[in-house]
Amino acid sequence: MVISFRVLLARLNDGPEIFFTLQGEGVSAGLPAVFVRAALCNLHCRWCDTDNTWNFEGTPWKHDKDADPAYRKHRKAEVAIEVPSAEIVERVAAHPCRRVVLTGGEPLLQQEAWLEVIAGLRAIDPAYVFEVETNGTRTPTEEFRAAVNQFNVSPKLANSGMEAKLRTVPAVLSGFAADPKAWFKFVAVEDGDMDEILAFSRDFTVPPERILVMPEGRTAADLDRHAPAVAARCLLHGWRFCDRLHVRLWGDKRGV
Ligand code: SF4
Repeated sequence: MVISFRVLLARLNDGPEIFFTLQGEGVSAGLPAVFVRAALCNLHCRWCDTDNTWNFEGTPWKHDKDADPAYRKHRKAEVAIEVPSAEIVERVAAHPCRRVVLTGGEPLLQQEAWLEVIAGLRAIDPAYVFEVETNGTRTPTEEFRAAVNQFNVSPKLANSGMEAKLRTVPAVLSGFAADPKAWFKFVAVEDGDMDEILAFSRDFTVPPERILVMPEGRTAADLDRHAPAVAARCLLHGWRFCDRLHVRLWGDKRGV
């Protein structure tokens, strides 16, 4: 039986949010990659910059953007689009690149459908490499874990506004900590954020070189302002300092 899944993706302009760019963060920062952005998230961080993937009309979630009188929750039909896996394969394969980043939202909410996309692309070229960006609260199935080359895990800190029991799921984080495919990346602003990262690395026995810490910022000037404090703590704890290339190149713009 042929199964054909549909994936709920973020919508950008008239189509799904699939775009070719440079990976802006993490251990493969700077490499060209095709990004595919999933809709839906099981968290609702107050500063999330992809709130279009989950802050739908009728939901109770709060967001920092609520302070802007012009901000409105999103109409789901306008910001999300169901796309057959075969169409995603076709759209991704149209780009001259074999690195694919499955992002979101939280892509691990739709694992079965992604498996079909991954299989479809590897049938075209076995050299395809898949990175998955996750908030670290959902366990990958064995099949999914085997199919993916790299997990970019971004556990959320207290500054997300999420309750600790929702953003920190110890069994899931321990699983990623034990998986050499997983890298952990954090955005930090204050000393308290970095104290939380230190506690995380101790609690889950993550070696410091698998922890990447980035300054917060939506402009190059913000990054520059926050970078020295982050760099100092990276030197102290052995973490890898990571810039945010896409912010420097394109600021807040989506789909690049
Ligand atoms: S986990 Fe990521 S996508 Fe989900 S709400 Fe938080 S920042 Fe946004």
